[in-house]
Amino acid sequence: MSEATAVLRGIPAPEDRWDDHASAGRSLLEELAYRSNLLGADRALANQGGGNTSAKGMTTDHLGREVRVLWVKGSGTDLATITPAGFPGLRLDDLLPLRQRDAMDDASMVDYLLRCAVRPDQPRPSIETLLHAFIPAEHVEHTHPDAIIALTSTPRGHELVEEAFGSQAVWLDYERPGFAMSQRIAQMLEENPDARAVLLERHGLVTWGSTAKESYHATLEFVGRAALAIERAANGRFGLGGPKVAELRDGGKQSSLLAGALPALRGSLLEDADGVVLDVGRADRGGDCKKARCAEKVRSWSDVAPFRIEIAGVTHQDLRGKRNPPTPMSEPSPMQKTQPLQGQFLHRVVSGHQGHGQAA
Ligand SMILES: [Zn+2]
Repeated sequence: MSEATAVLRGIPAPEDRWDDHASAGRSLLEELAYRSNLLGADRALANQGGGNTSAKGMTTDHLGREVRVLWVKGSGTDLATITPAGFPGLRLDDLLPLRQRDAMDDASMVDYLLRCAVRPDQPRPSIETLLHAFIPAEHVEHTHPDAIIALTSTPRGHELVEEAFGSQAVWLDYERPGFAMSQRIAQMLEENPDARAVLLERHGLVTWGSTAKESYHATLEFVGRAALAIERAANGRFGLGGPKVAELRDGGKQSSLLAGALPALRGSLLEDADGVVLDVGRADRGGDCKKARCAEKVRSWSDVAPFRIEIAGVTHQDLRGKRNPPTPMSEPSPMQKTQPLQGQFLHRVVSGHQGHGQAA
């Protein structure tokens, strides 16, 4: 996995979080929750609320009969925090006959799934439930990994997937989740018995296993291999989350670049009627200037008062004030009107409203 870590620079790598001691002694449903939490703990694998997991086993119904059951993630829950109670149980022997249907709209499918419930008070099952039901493996997981979405979103995605995985994976052209997608995947897997995964164009990944651990590791393996395929195809020129421009390491040049650029930048921000706070900083006083964050939107300048610029810890310029009327780009900015920068390194724009900025 270390190779994948190197490729996925800038985003969390698919670290193997499985712990045999932690998983030991769990029931099927508890183990499903454990596996789901591991996937959800890595947002590079499963975005918040995204993806779903399942396990097939036996349970006892209200008449005391042993019935086959599919436990699948409830709609709207998050893999990172889901507990056993978050997985509705559905009668597998009621679900499987749907393979014989040609079509089914969403409303009919949802209604049908509700009627397969083992318990009347359980959560609503995921819209991707049939995908899990139709794959003949005890443990199935569907995730939205960054590396898979990147690979399957490129113009040569299909070709790259075939090169990287051969008969070990099947490619599904983009299709909206639902009955038809589940049917198509089941059919493709019947036609490609060597496949160990499905890559869904611009969507995600489906893997499975005979044990929970095997299924989890299949996801990690295919994500890692997808990342390497991207890197190979880009010949080292592509990195998820890596720098997009060369870093300026010379401190003196950083200062003069900032001094020259910030007045114009601030002027353009003042034109924004919504009000945007510019937060410029550096990782540390002796290091490189790495951050130039365009922080959160605010209603007006007065919301963020006092607003001032701290220059190299020496000079403070109070730029707070009023909401300036929109000015054309060619107009001098308020910064230029007050005082030119002293040629010092512009350390930070501090606002009284400490927001959480988005990386620019
Ligand atoms: Zn999905």
